[in-house]
Parts: sequence; C-alpha cells; structure tokens
Amino acid sequence: MGQKIAEFDYIITGAGSAGATLASRLSENPDITVCLLEAGPRDNRVSIHTPAMIADAVYADDLNWHYDTAPQTELNNRELYWPRGKTLGGSSSINAMIYIRGGQVDYEAWNTLGATGFGWNDVLPYFRKSEDQQRFNDQHHGHGGPLTVSDLRYINPLSDAFVRAGMERGHTKNDDFNGQARLGVGPYQVTQRDGRRCSAAAAYLGKHVQDRPNLTIMVETLATRIIMDGTRATGVSVRSKGEDYDIIARREVIVTGGAINSPQILMLSGIGPADHLRELGIGVAVDRPGVGENLQDHLDTGVSFTENTGASYAYSLRAFPKQLAELVRYFFTRQGMLTSNAAETGGFASTRGEDEPDIQLHFIPAIVAARNEPRSKIHGITLHSYVLYPDSRGTIRLSSTNPEDHPVIDPQYLTKGHDMKTQIAGAKMAMDILQAPAFDGQRKAHFTPPSQPESDAEWEAFVREKAETLFHPVGTCKMGVKTDGMAVVDPHCRVYGAKGLRVVDASVMPRLIGGNTNAPTIMIAEKIADLMKAGG
Ligand SMILES: Cc1cc2nc3c(=O)[nH]c(=O)nc-3n(C[C@H](O)[C@H](O)[C@H](O)COP(=O)(O)OP(=O)(O)OC[C@H]3O[C@@H](n4cnc5c(N)ncnc54)[C@H](O)[C@@H]3O)c2cc1C
Repeated sequence: MGQKIAEFDYIITGAGSAGATLASRLSENPDITVCLLEAGPRDNRVSIHTPAMIADAVYADDLNWHYDTAPQTELNNRELYWPRGKTLGGSSSINAMIYIRGGQVDYEAWNTLGATGFGWNDVLPYFRKSEDQQRFNDQHHGHGGPLTVSDLRYINPLSDAFVRAGMERGHTKNDDFNGQARLGVGPYQVTQRDGRRCSAAAAYLGKHVQDRPNLTIMVETLATRIIMDGTRATGVSVRSKGEDYDIIARREVIVTGGAINSPQILMLSGIGPADHLRELGIGVAVDRPGVGENLQDHLDTGVSFTENTGASYAYSLRAFPKQLAELVRYFFTRQGMLTSNAAETGGFASTRGEDEPDIQLHFIPAIVAARNEPRSKIHGITLHSYVLYPDSRGTIRLSSTNPEDHPVIDPQYLTKGHDMKTQIAGAKMAMDILQAPAFDGQRKAHFTPPSQPESDAEWEAFVREKAETLFHPVGTCKMGVKTDGMAVVDPHCRVYGAKGLRVVDASVMPRLIGGNTNAPTIMIAEKIADLMKAGG
C-alpha cells in the first residue's frame, strides 16, 4: 500500500471516450469532487488534432498501448496489432473519427440480452444529448451537445467514385447512416469541429471543464489496483513517475479503461474468475467468472488495387508538391486534404440480401499502411469489409500480477459460426465494387490479393493471411441481469457482488453493435452519468 495523497467523491480510471464523458458530466455538480486518472500524457500533439495524420497517431509510441493479440489459430497463427489510445480522449484521440451509432435492432438486442433500459428508444435521447450535428435537422439528431458531428470538409475524387461504383453494383445511396436505415453507400460523417478531430477530450474536457475546481485530472498516472475493503471499493492505487500512491474514493470508483484494461484492473484487484486469480496468487474479493470473457471484435479484410491518377493518398514524390500546398492551406484555413480521415466513404450491406446489414464497408483512397511501414508510398485504393455481428468470442486474461505487463488478448477470430463465410462474402463484394465501371481508367492492377481469387478456398486463404482488426473490441465486462452468471455489471454499470464500483466503457456492451463503437461508448457514459446524478 502506498502513501495516501487525496480523497475525492469519485475516482475515474481512464480518460477515454467513456471516462472523459463521465468526468465532465459528473463534475457539472459543483458539490461533488471528481478525480480523473489517465495513464497517458495530455493530448497536445498536432498529430492527434490534424485528421489526416491519423497514421501517425495510431503508431505514435507514447500515445498508444501497442497491444498484440495471442497467435490466432484461424489466421495462420498471426499475432494482430491492436492499437489503443493512451492520452486524454483515449482511443477517440487516435481513431478514424467515423460517427456511427449502429442499428435500432442492436439496442433492442442489448435489451433482450439483459442490458435493460438500453432499447433504442432509451438510448436515442443520449445519442442526441451528446451530439452537435452540423448538417441534419430531424428527429434522429441532436444539436448543442459537446460532440461535434459534421460532414467531411474534403472528399477525395476516388472516394466519390466508390459511391458511384457501389450504386453501379446495386447499392442504394445513403446520405445518413445514422438516420432511418443503415443500408447503402455514401459519405461518412465524422467527429470533427472546424476541421480538427473532436475526440471525447475535445468534446467533454474543454478548458471550461478542466478549470472546474471540483475536477482533478491526473495524467501519466497509471491506476494499478482498486483498493478493496472486503467487497467495497474504497480507492485506487496509482503509479506516477515511478512513485506509488493511494487515492481514496468517498463514494465510488468508476473503471473506464476500455475493453482490455478494465477487465485487467478488475482481475488485478481480485475481481474476476476465481480459478484464474488463484492461479496467479491473487486473493479473490469478488468471484465474477464473466470478467475478461465475451471479447468480441470486428475483423476486417481489405481488397486493394493500385491506381494511376495519383489522386490517392501516398507519401510519393509525385504527391509531394500537392501535399505541401495542402499543408499550407490547412494551416491557414482548416480546409482541404488534411481534414480527411482517410475512410471518407463507405456503407452497409447484406451479403444475404436481407433488410438489415451483416457487413460494413470502409473505402480508403490509399493502400493501407502497415505497422512496419505506416506511410505507404504506393498510390492505390482499398475497400475494407468486416462482419458486423461475429459469432466468435474471445478472452482477456492476466499474464502476470504486474499492472505494467500487457494482458493476454485472445479474440479467437473466426472460430465460430458463420464468421468465415460472411468474411469471404464481404471480401468478394468489396472486390466486385472495386471492379465496377466507376473505377475504369483509374484502377490499375490487383495489389491485395495480388490476383483475382478463383475459388472460395483461395478467398479463405486470403482472409487467413491478411485479415486485421478494425479496432472495436467490446464485451469483456458485459452488462446483464442478476441471474446471468456471466454478467459483470448491472444495467446501471454497477459491478455485481461489489459495492462502490462501476465499469463504464465499451467493455460493458453485451454484444457488438453493427458499426463503429465510439458514439455508442459515449452514449453509455452519458446515460450512466444521468442515472448516477439521479442517485442510481
Ligand atoms: C485506430 C482506431 C480507429 C478507430 N476508429 C473508429 C472510428 O472511426 N469510429 C468509431 O466510432 N470508433 C473507432 N474506434 C473505436 C473507438 O475509438 C473505441 O471503441 C472507443 O474509443 C472506446 O472507448 P473506451 O472509453 O471504451 O476506451 P478508450 O477510449 O480506449 O479509453 C480508455 C482510456 O483509459 C486509459 N487507461 C486504461 N487503463 C488505465 C489505467 N490502468 N490507469 C489509467 N488510465 C488507464 C487509456 O489510456 C485510455 O485513455 C477506433 C479505435 C482505434 C484504436
């Protein structure tokens, strides 16, 4: 146990999409004190705020947890790179800024799975509360909220060509994936304000919030353990600049470390599957077998061609003069290519011809960067597809009792049900769209895969060799009803079996939503903040 340094009503462990939102909302009440802990540094790097520098943000050494998965048996034993944000704003400070809520059916499914009170009509008000929509003015959208949602200021001509190509292949045009329905192809809206990234920190932790006397933000401070008095959480042990301290929570500890770190800190604190904890010599405070289970992620396959117009994004000599001009333009006007999030257009489709989508598409006017070479020099186009509702489930387990060691991340991709079949169908659909007439004259040669696969066996081999994460892990502290032995939190995000302890972040989602996961995570935090303010 370290020296005690302070006491607060609430301690929040992680300033990501959920943690930033929660800290901001709870500290609106001047009568309560809130301490927000963040393992990473402040978010003052230019690469965070300049949308087109996303590759730099994703690979930057000190803004990122740099996780790798365990070898994946169905992916030729590859270990996949899982970046997660480690700065104010968390993963929303390094993400692709695509604003998607998911389908109404997703939240009805949550409700049925035990996330009572998270049906569509329950969650829509919280999506709207968080939103400051810059374009649409209808019942689906909100105005005046902290999170600015806007059209992209710049769309590459190749991204426009993708929308035409999709329509040529029979997909309808959809201008608002967060409106009545998701199916179709069109431009994405993004979390950007004035041409800059609107992360959860930019949205919820502006200067007026950080100046509140009742909110203390401690950066470069790792929460190492929740202090438990029996089954009650009474504080958090932290490590900062090599020193260990204890911080006391008068009311609650709220764990907001994301789908990997939240189960990790619970287990380090004796909350989790008793057998696993005992194996590591950790005393069991609360036996919750569901902690670290139910890991779900979106697995992505990108099909790409080289292109000959030079309009695509690449770090080539040919593109350099334009990029230089765009740099100046961005500096003075916050317009142009540097406002691009790369994944400017995309869509939702059903590989089975149904009314609800089973895959999502992200078009990128570039050959996608690899970890060892984040800046691609080759001009090309890539169409990504991923399975919206995978059947496969994985785990997070501790590798040791050292809070600085990475846990074992095993998503067990493609091990269940229809996942491989749908992944192949999505990749085939992507290839078909890239071969539509809209790309004639621009499309040059196959790049990934290097030639047209001839059979399902060849497609399967391609998926096994090339599929990567789309960065949406969820579910490892799932929300559910009391009778569900695998549920970790109740519908108020309170940890079953513990007192004074909640988990609020993407880990509580019982099932992946059909889309990108930032907006739903913020929605969860908005809703829980309201419940807490009402005493729940
Ligand atoms: C590269 C990438 C691209 C993505 N693109 C999109 C997109 O375009 N659209 C979209 O909707 N979603 C996208 N996502 C997903 C989305 O950003 C996440 O689902 C969402 O941010 C998760 O929020 P969270 O609060 O659960 O976790 P995070 O935002 O990851 O926050 C967790 C925070 O807790 C901190 N933390 C963790 N452990 C500790 C500890 N022990 N002590 C102190 N601090 C700790 C972390 O440093 C981090 O700041 C992307 C994600 C990534 C990584």
